[in-house]
Amino acid sequence: MRYAVLGTGIAGRTIAAKLSALGHEVVVGTRDPESTLARSTPDAMGNPPFATWHETHPIRLASFSEATAQADTVVNATAGAGSIQALTAAGAENLDGKVLIDVANALDFSAGMPPTLSPVNTDSLGEQIQRTFPGAKVVKTLNTMNSQIMVAPDRIAGPHTVFVCGNDTGAKKAVTELLVSIGWPESAVIDLGDITAARGTEMVLPVWLRLYGALGHTDFNFHIQGARAAG
Ligand code: NAP
Repeated sequence: MRYAVLGTGIAGRTIAAKLSALGHEVVVGTRDPESTLARSTPDAMGNPPFATWHETHPIRLASFSEATAQADTVVNATAGAGSIQALTAAGAENLDGKVLIDVANALDFSAGMPPTLSPVNTDSLGEQIQRTFPGAKVVKTLNTMNSQIMVAPDRIAGPHTVFVCGNDTGAKKAVTELLVSIGWPESAVIDLGDITAARGTEMVLPVWLRLYGALGHTDFNFHIQGARAAG
């Protein structure tokens, strides 16, 4: 498969590296490849600049639109506050008919820490993306855990859960197959229904952030006990 991974932060890098290791053709998307490669200081989270990572992961970097145009499937791993802008730059025509895997969170850092959520309650980033790009088949998934867990679920012993939601059944099936190829047992995947379920999975973030503070690390995830019995 040909993937566009939109996002040069730690989530985009981690997902791009995994997809590439699985043998997929991957292009990473950014606003301006030249300026992204020219950055020489760590990002706000202390991650090394993109160019440092790129030295050991020579995955093609292109503009959001170029990366998306060549892809069969697109991953949105951009900052929630910039996702609509990033996908607009990617181009609605380039997203038409494609599965759009949305791992972004609607975190709003404008009032400092801890971030709030925007949108929230009666809307979600997943829904905003689906409304703005009706031709894309948006599947929200993987946003409820650290990116290292997304691509290596066996970092955590025992069963734990990954949610999917979206309006297109075929797209959710394709994403579930991708998750299984990454190493997620099919029994770990819970389909929460249409894209409005993204309200719930995005609202998990305040709890996730408090758990991070309480546990002091990010190697944890949610496990829904009894999911199979209930289904
Ligand atoms: P991030 O700093 O949240 O996002 C970086 C990416 O967002 C860059 O590619 C940047 O573009 C793009 N971006 C920022 N503002 C933009 C704007 N106004 N217009 C267009 N693009 C914009 O990095 P991250 O930590 O890797 O997280 C990416 C997403 O994944 C977030 O939504 C986050 O909530 C979600 N997520 C992350 C993790 C994790 O472990 N980090 C876990 C779960 C979910 P440039 O490349 O041009 O700079």
